[in-house]
Amino acid sequence: MPEHTSQPYRSPSGRSRPDRSRSDRSRSKRVVRRGLAAGCAAMLASAVLAGCGTAQGALQPQPGPSSPASPAPTTPGAPAGPTGPVSPATPATPTPTPTQPKSSQPSQSPQSPRPATPKPSTPAPQPPPSTTPPPPAPPASGVATSVVSSTAHGGRTVALTFDDGPGTATGQILDLLAQYGAKATFCQIGPQAAADPAVVRRILAAGHRLCDHSVHHPQPFAALSHDRQVSEISTARDMIVRAGGPGTKVAWFRAPGGGFTASNQQVAASYGMRPLGWSVDTRDWAKPGVPAILAAVQRELRPGGVILMHDGGGDRSQTVAALRQLLPWLASQGYAFDFPAV
Ligand SMILES: [Zn+2]
Repeated sequence: MPEHTSQPYRSPSGRSRPDRSRSDRSRSKRVVRRGLAAGCAAMLASAVLAGCGTAQGALQPQPGPSSPASPAPTTPGAPAGPTGPVSPATPATPTPTPTQPKSSQPSQSPQSPRPATPKPSTPAPQPPPSTTPPPPAPPASGVATSVVSSTAHGGRTVALTFDDGPGTATGQILDLLAQYGAKATFCQIGPQAAADPAVVRRILAAGHRLCDHSVHHPQPFAALSHDRQVSEISTARDMIVRAGGPGTKVAWFRAPGGGFTASNQQVAASYGMRPLGWSVDTRDWAKPGVPAILAAVQRELRPGGVILMHDGGGDRSQTVAALRQLLPWLASQGYAFDFPAV
């Protein structure tokens, strides 16, 4: 059967497909890169789908991790400090500022044609003087609703992110990260976190961070009803927090397939989670071979970038093998490991 179905995610079976379409191999990597860097911006009807890790070839353009609208990276020193080597030694490339895609969002989005960027100028609507419950509260946490695809500190930093776990490769990935003193962010499927709380706690104990990646990994995520999206987001978060133990922080939400909308971004933010995109799609889920995974990073990474890989959703042996080479390469290029911006 086709790998890419819209059925609930089934990581343990190893048959599931992480979020993206297999289809787009022929599409321009350059476009994908730029598009992703631009946060899977609008024009990427196709590329974005690939780049944004959408699951089905038929998936309609989603806003994707678009318009990171990330503020210019702040100076180091804040809590989420980079780890590892920081010296900008031997820059492999000129160091353009971390991708600052324009904030335009895909206009094709059926649900959220509006830019994700908040409109602070809009006066808050006054609640009607009635007893009816107000609509879902806007973020009270102060978390930005825009999709971020850059690191917290910018400069020559990189954020590694692993989706669809915890899975069979998570332990090996943690071993490698420890070996190189690297930190990463794990975007977890709620039930899988619940099924393996020990590894969730190991992730936290090692100083890594957690991200909500829904309960069932349904796609296209944006096509779900609002209530279902809220449930997917909030229930997974609860499961991850329970698995991690008291005080567990889940700072980001990554929509399956990058299926962000202004609405679900708002929901995530209301739970204190910043919508998380990426700027480099390794497409490791497609098992393109270790050289291809490495090449994607070497070609697409810019300082302040966020790399998308997977520790669950199937056989991730290529991911592990690629990471074994990628970590020393990043260090050799002077990259420090950081977390995504919040
Ligand atoms: Zn995923």
